[in-house]
Amino acid sequence: MDFSDTPDEATFRAEAQAFLAAHMPLKDPGRVHVSRAMTPEDVAASKAWQRKKAENGFAGILWPKDYGGREGTPMQQIIFGQEEERYAVPTTVFNQGVGMAMPTVMTFGTPDQLVRYPRPALFGDEVWCQLFSEPAAGSDLAGLRTRAVKDGADWIINGQKIWTSYAHFADFGMLVVRTDPNVAKHAGLSFFLIDMKTPGIEIRPIRQISGTSNFSEVFFTDVRIPDSQRLGAVGEGWKVALTMLANERFTVGSAEGPDFEEILALAQRVKIDGRRAVEDSAVRERLAHWYVRTAGIRFTRLRSQTALSRSRAPGPENSILKLVSANKLQDIATFGIDLVGETGAITEPEIAAMHGLFQQALLYAPSKRIAGGTDEILRNIIAERVLGLPADIRADKGLAFNKIPTGARG
Ligand SMILES: Cc1cc2nc3c(=O)[nH]c(=O)nc-3n(C[C@H](O)[C@H](O)[C@H](O)COP(=O)(O)OP(=O)(O)OC[C@H]3O[C@@H](n4cnc5c(N)ncnc54)[C@H](O)[C@@H]3O)c2cc1C
Repeated sequence: MDFSDTPDEATFRAEAQAFLAAHMPLKDPGRVHVSRAMTPEDVAASKAWQRKKAENGFAGILWPKDYGGREGTPMQQIIFGQEEERYAVPTTVFNQGVGMAMPTVMTFGTPDQLVRYPRPALFGDEVWCQLFSEPAAGSDLAGLRTRAVKDGADWIINGQKIWTSYAHFADFGMLVVRTDPNVAKHAGLSFFLIDMKTPGIEIRPIRQISGTSNFSEVFFTDVRIPDSQRLGAVGEGWKVALTMLANERFTVGSAEGPDFEEILALAQRVKIDGRRAVEDSAVRERLAHWYVRTAGIRFTRLRSQTALSRSRAPGPENSILKLVSANKLQDIATFGIDLVGETGAITEPEIAAMHGLFQQALLYAPSKRIAGGTDEILRNIIAERVLGLPADIRADKGLAFNKIPTGARG
């Protein structure tokens, strides 16, 4: 494992630090950033910051210069992410567009699509969302049912997507639909780039337990789009979707929210039976457990960074990172609330312990164990692809999609 920057990496890190310091304040260490509802003002701030980064060569670090990128290395991307994390930058709405959608457009796009889409995304003018999940297709994404039927030179789309992050702020969506139900489920999909203002699209924000609405249901009723909005060949939607998901690994940052440092700080402040919680042996045992887990995550992340810096792609073992960090976040949030006792019911940041950090985290931590692959799916990946255990039973393998048995419909 390499822990130190090469001379080139150190030069790039200094350049990134100078740019960030010139434009953004450092984060207040007493206030860890937590998930909250995005407002139109937040989106405007995110767009302005995206533009600033693009103009200075820090937005499309891996992108070709033709599209406004730097043609840099994955390591430079990671270094910039590490440095940016230390600053109070606006929450971004560009991970999906710049990190995932556009690299996929660059792989499969027609010349017209390459001229139309990447630049406005990179420079913060257009926000993208990911229209993959459906009410009956999440982990089993290839089982999706939203249909697109050819009508002359157009496609007519009907169906429903769900859990679409930032759909209500998005200009465009990456849409996977079923174009042929008569073949095996992975073979009958196609991928489209869709303007979210197209007639027939209805976006209904979902109210979350935290009171925020950062994702939506998206309904398609006789939505007509031209064939020129298709990305990749008809029936190759699964291949395009997998390419997009593979780009996700470069966009996933560290889990936001309370971590070992914050639970330690809380345990040093609150008292149990007149003594500081940190002196209680049961509390110390839990702290030691999270310290070990935090160190494990750090070293696993360094291992994948080392792989990237040597031009090797991180393997399926990367699934461990999300699995362990999301569970740790939920455990720490729950324990933090236990420690503060009945004052845990106070959520106003002005008066709550540690600005209400643990209260907020308690509400959003469960979603981290679902988004981007649930715990069970990640465990399956680790079991099958890292440990070489027998594969999960796939009863629908090889069956045409419309021959897969489904439950009775009411
Ligand atoms: C905060 C957040 C943001 C999201 N943003 C987006 C977005 O922008 N775009 C988008 O398309 N989607 C988005 N999603 C949806 C997300 O991708 C899905 O929720 C996720 O893939 C799980 O699918 P599901 O909800 O349908 O659950 P299901 O797949 O129905 O799973 C239900 C339960 O069954 C378990 N399970 C399923 N299959 C297996 C198996 N083979 N073996 C063992 N257990 C299994 C799961 O682990 C889970 O516990 C988001 C979700 C969240 C929480």
